[in-house]
Amino acid sequence: MGRVFSLMIAVLLPTLSAGIPFSCQRDALVVQDGVNDYGPLLDKPPIMRVLLIRDAREAQVSVYGSYQITGSLTNIIDQGQGLQKAKISVTNSAINIGNKRYDTSELRITSHQDGDIELNNLRYRGEIRILQQFNNKFSVIEEIDMESFIAGVLGSEMPQSWNDDALRAQAVTARTYAMYKKKIRRDEIYHLEMIELAYRGIAGETPRLNKIIQETKGVVMVYNWNIFPAYFHSTCGGHTEDALHVFGKDSIPPLTGVVCGYCDNSKHSSWSKDIRKSDIEKKLREANIYISNISAVKNVNPGAGNHGSKVEIASLQGNKEMNANDFRLLVGPNILLSTAFNSRSNGNCITFSGKGWGHGVGLCQYGAQAMAEKGSPWIAILKHYYPEIELVRLY
Ligand SMILES: [Zn+2]
Repeated sequence: MGRVFSLMIAVLLPTLSAGIPFSCQRDALVVQDGVNDYGPLLDKPPIMRVLLIRDAREAQVSVYGSYQITGSLTNIIDQGQGLQKAKISVTNSAINIGNKRYDTSELRITSHQDGDIELNNLRYRGEIRILQQFNNKFSVIEEIDMESFIAGVLGSEMPQSWNDDALRAQAVTARTYAMYKKKIRRDEIYHLEMIELAYRGIAGETPRLNKIIQETKGVVMVYNWNIFPAYFHSTCGGHTEDALHVFGKDSIPPLTGVVCGYCDNSKHSSWSKDIRKSDIEKKLREANIYISNISAVKNVNPGAGNHGSKVEIASLQGNKEMNANDFRLLVGPNILLSTAFNSRSNGNCITFSGKGWGHGVGLCQYGAQAMAEKGSPWIAILKHYYPEIELVRLY
């Protein structure tokens, strides 16, 4: 028991994350299909706190079956059978739902049946918490078990028609990323925002996806017995990139980049796009970066996958360098598809000719799909994109 508990701490808690030598664990090891299974290290899937709405003034909520509302002291303050679509708002330090007023800084809505709570036209499986913020605003957090959360993520992050093994690899990747965020934000109000992992409540779930998730239930990747941020992206364009190069952090062997060679089929594997100089200037201005008359945007210090670590922007104000990934996110991640580009000035536009879609770190989704179609099982896919990992079943 002590041994199992030690491993659980190494995976989940950073304070004791120096790691446990693999050899000390071996007597407990049961290898099943490449997954290190010690028996359950957690007795059940952990609860994720997912930020659904941040600092809003209003939202719409409804509940289909019976429900309960509890306050910040977990006392039941209301209950009912079916809640018609009602507006959530905050006035005079009270939370209003429709025309009912609750004098509490926080309230929790729990439905009797999974999936009965609807918030802004999306249905959710877990419980939702409404928290008052400053200036009559509020935020909404869902509390949901990890497996149900991953079920909601999988169908949003990868086309549902893709190969089972690509989807299994994606499920383990998303679970590892979510578990890492839960670890580093364990003392914060939420662990994950919806923009970090695409998530649309139960809208993305299907029986097939649920079966695929069940087949990898509780499995995460670890490196040196530590959970890590398992980044992933759509298309690398030929070679995945070193996390240190792109994000300036997370330099561990699984995130240093590998030859992909599987994503040529992606329509994003190479692309060309004209982006108006004035649009770039406007996007930068919105982030308080004031540049006018851009004449060039140069990819500086490209990595093995040609993703730049910096861009140099030539303008009336001279040359300005900034982090390439930050630049891409400001311009728009779906407008400038990646930082692996060459560029030239073209009248009032910059013509970007690039490779891939996304930051280029970790699993390449199109590559994973091509590997799976060629017969690679999900574990081989993960070990290709994240070298030196081990797979561990937590529950
Ligand atoms: Zn690739």
